[in-house]
Amino acid sequence: MTDTSTTARFDFHCHSTASDGRLPPAEVVTRAHENGVTCLSLTDHDTVAGLIEAHSEAEKIGLHLIPGIELSVSWRGQCFHVVGLDIDPNNAKLKQGMQIIQKMRELRAQAIGARLQKKGIPGCYEGAKNIAGKGTVTRTHFAQHLVNQNYATGMQKAFDRYLLRGKPGFVATQWPDMKEAIEWIRDAGGIAVLAHPLRYKITATRMRSMLQDYKLAGGRAIEVVCGSSNDNDVLNAARLARQFELLGSVGSDFHSPENRWIELGRLQDLPNDIDPVWNAIKPIATTHH
Ligand code: AMP
Ligand code: MN
Ligand code: MN
Ligand code: MN
Repeated sequence: MTDTSTTARFDFHCHSTASDGRLPPAEVVTRAHENGVTCLSLTDHDTVAGLIEAHSEAEKIGLHLIPGIELSVSWRGQCFHVVGLDIDPNNAKLKQGMQIIQKMRELRAQAIGARLQKKGIPGCYEGAKNIAGKGTVTRTHFAQHLVNQNYATGMQKAFDRYLLRGKPGFVATQWPDMKEAIEWIRDAGGIAVLAHPLRYKITATRMRSMLQDYKLAGGRAIEVVCGSSNDNDVLNAARLARQFELLGSVGSDFHSPENRWIELGRLQDLPNDIDPVWNAIKPIATTHH
């Protein structure tokens, strides 16, 4: 007798060349599949452009793909990332929202280029745009260009030296308000997930204020397990999930095979008492339960 029970393995946060990932959408899907992921969400920055290619590959190999996105949002002047899971990529409001952010990103990229030029590093806007191709242009592309041109010896150094707050290429951006962006996700039938909650360098008090507003705005989930989480990180994120009665998500935030620390599907287990976000996603809830 063949064993028909499959162990589900989830990864609900990753990137392709549609934004700042290194692999094309189809290769992200095959790589996830090879790593044992049965249910994947591709969540590119502020775009759904990779989903069609990802979906057709996923169908071929029998992997369950959840349409996703990672939106750049502002809350009290600070940038946060909100993942939208199980969205309708053709939803009109979401599309409008994506257009707004893409426009901001284009203007920001020009401003970053101009700032770096003033510091004696010309051609960065063109370089970053060239690497981004048709995908969302991000600081990752500037970092890659700076590395390629030997202005930095690695991606992290490029960020540290040129692109982080206070550095020559940093441009503050007022992203759409968190509340508004969550509305786009909800209008598209999706579930809002606060991405990598421990990456924002804020006090516990500010985090609690943020999560209060997040809940009021209709945010439903939080990433309890990230690709970069250690045991303590999972405990801390799980505490926030319990305190604010949020569903728990798991996502590697995979960008590139070059980063050996982060791999598709390589994630710790969600703590037992945390309500998993996949139970709230219909196609999965019916497939696996
Ligand atoms: P952006 O959304 O254009 O500001 O670019 C942010 C992206 O840059 C993130 O999604 C990460 O992939 C990457 N990133 C942000 N901060 C760092 C950092 N300190 N080191 C390396 N990559 C970073
Ligand atoms: Mn990124
Ligand atoms: Mn992010
Ligand atoms: Mn991400």
